[in-house]
Amino acid sequence: MTTAIVAGGGFYGAMIAAYLKTRRGVGTVRLFEAAPELLGRASLVNQARVHSGYHYPRSFTTAYRSRVNYPRFVEAFGEATTPFQAVYALARRNSKVTPRQMERFCADIGAPLDPAPPQVARLFDPRLVAQAYLVEESAFDAAKLARAAERLLRDAGVEVRTGLEVTSVEAAPDGLTVAAGGEHHPAGVVFNCTYARLQRLAGPEAPPFGLKHEITELALVRPPPEFEGLGVTVMDGPFFSCMPFPARGLHSLSHVRYTPHLSWAEAGERDPYAVLDAYAKESRVDRMLRDAARYAPGLARSTVEGSLFTVKTVLTANEGDDGRPILFRRHGHEGRVFSVLGGKIDNVFDVLERLEAEELPA
Ligand SMILES: Cc1cc2nc3c(=O)[nH]c(=O)nc-3n(C[C@H](O)[C@H](O)[C@H](O)COP(=O)(O)OP(=O)(O)OC[C@H]3O[C@@H](n4cnc5c(N)ncnc54)[C@H](O)[C@@H]3O)c2cc1C
Repeated sequence: MTTAIVAGGGFYGAMIAAYLKTRRGVGTVRLFEAAPELLGRASLVNQARVHSGYHYPRSFTTAYRSRVNYPRFVEAFGEATTPFQAVYALARRNSKVTPRQMERFCADIGAPLDPAPPQVARLFDPRLVAQAYLVEESAFDAAKLARAAERLLRDAGVEVRTGLEVTSVEAAPDGLTVAAGGEHHPAGVVFNCTYARLQRLAGPEAPPFGLKHEITELALVRPPPEFEGLGVTVMDGPFFSCMPFPARGLHSLSHVRYTPHLSWAEAGERDPYAVLDAYAKESRVDRMLRDAARYAPGLARSTVEGSLFTVKTVLTANEGDDGRPILFRRHGHEGRVFSVLGGKIDNVFDVLERLEAEELPA
């Protein structure tokens, strides 16, 4: 049976590597991760929301897939997820969605939606918030998710190497050669799961994937007691989210206007992680908090605990609707290379479903 090499040990690379070994019987599966640890990039620095649809009133497909994948994720990674009460509050002005539209949309995707009770509704300024809803969601602990992924890889018998950067994938007489850290490894099939570096590693012959990169700031705060364990998302436009971040026992704070510091369309010439390293990273948490406190005044009493910066990579095709579909491309060298980008953590089940339909080289 063939040898598969997976480049990139984020959540996607780890899950795909384990799947290839356990479900597809691939003889040897090697996972090469450039960083010293698995799941240290986007799979760590993110909002940690297990999406269940509410966040995507403008993208029915993303919302619907979230409804399907949410229970699967919670079942598979229950030890890494924590349920919490989530408030979705619709702004009176500049919201792309009205309460009526939100209610109809939630009915369409089968998502329970109840008006927030008075003790929660009063956390918001009624002059700016048209309607607040209270629902149950889950957050994942990215550190526990990393341990779960490591365990899956170990149990599956995947050979994991960290600190090993894949630099190229070339055709070889009987398959592919993967260059990594000065070594050359033969492979029958390669999975490119390098997220922000997806297009770079795919190389100039690969089709353009239509990626956009953002240097993002996720602030970490300790909210006042009335917000503890509560997630707050003001929608749907240039607003904010403040929700539990279990990996640090804090809340993350992100703001549509201030979280992305810098963005550019992928053109192949810049390594997004090099851009991140060189970036000055001056926090905008004050601006995030000031604006958030207009809608939920109590948040002004939050204490700031720091910020995490990373590169967020999205598909330019979804700029308008905020959807987060998967990118799944089979390309190059007689279809031996797969490039995969997951828009969010729970989409991994969509990727594994797509993979089921693919014949792998013998
Ligand atoms: C700010 C932000 C907020 C988000 N919020 C949420 C959320 O609330 N809920 C949700 O579900 N999703 C969220 N997401 C999206 C989610 O984080 C990603 O979809 C997911 O983590 C992608 O996983 P991945 O494995 O593809 O990428 P990553 O975790 O980035 O893994 C890619 C790995 O590839 C490695 N790598 C890169 N190049 C090479 C190379 N040449 N050789 C070897 N290794 C290489 C990197 O070091 C990295 O470890 C958010 C993302 C961001 C950035």
